[in-house]
Amino acid sequence: MSFFTTGMNFKKAIICDLDGTLALSKSPLSTEMAEVLCGILRNHYLVVISGGSYTQFDKQFLSHLNCPEELLKNLYLFPTMGGTCYVYDSESNAWKQLYEEILTIEERDLIKNAISDSLRESNMDFSEIYGELVDDRVTQVTLSCKGQEAPLLVKQSWDTDQSKRKILVEILKGKIPQFEIRIGGTTSIDITKKGIDKAFAIQKFKELSNLSDEDIIFVGDALFTGGNDAPVKTTGVDYIQESGPSETIAFLRQYL
Ligand SMILES: [Mg+2]
Repeated sequence: MSFFTTGMNFKKAIICDLDGTLALSKSPLSTEMAEVLCGILRNHYLVVISGGSYTQFDKQFLSHLNCPEELLKNLYLFPTMGGTCYVYDSESNAWKQLYEEILTIEERDLIKNAISDSLRESNMDFSEIYGELVDDRVTQVTLSCKGQEAPLLVKQSWDTDQSKRKILVEILKGKIPQFEIRIGGTTSIDITKKGIDKAFAIQKFKELSNLSDEDIIFVGDALFTGGNDAPVKTTGVDYIQESGPSETIAFLRQYL
């Protein structure tokens, strides 16, 4: 920890993963986490990057944050791995989309067909599914292997070592190599335009904020090889691996 106790005061922006870092998968922010994040926003930029859609951010993150409105100018949201970015517009009192790296309807259809074919070819059991398997998020198509409404306990036990999704990703890469195909949260596989990942989102944030690598630290639960935070290691920013929201809170408290 010595590295962070010497370096942390110089960080202007803290970039966090959402699922598994700020909150449990698709679960709301805790009251304690919301309080800590509001404290962070008083003196730092807070950036949140996730594979989830803006709608998911709203439901899971924004509606539980409860910060004074004047702090929201320091918050940047990057849904769908930075396929899009939202900032708060204090004139209209609304979240404003800054850009959108859309997949065309044809591209999304191609991806959905490749998913159907890959599920069939994998010979895995997809009979017990909760809600829709595939979510079209315009900038990203997400396959939730137990369905989007699956209970957390069902999701957590399905693919603990990612071995099932590694097989599915390999099959998909054979069919649609022109897209970025990544293992997401607990059961998901996210497909976007090539080159869209957390490193891309960080680059976008640096451009929008005029900050540089040394101003930034990233916090995530999946920086291991193959994890959806791993692309961050290809950037020049500092990063720290956490095991879940309670460790993240302890880390963030050092910045308050
Ligand atoms: Mg995560």
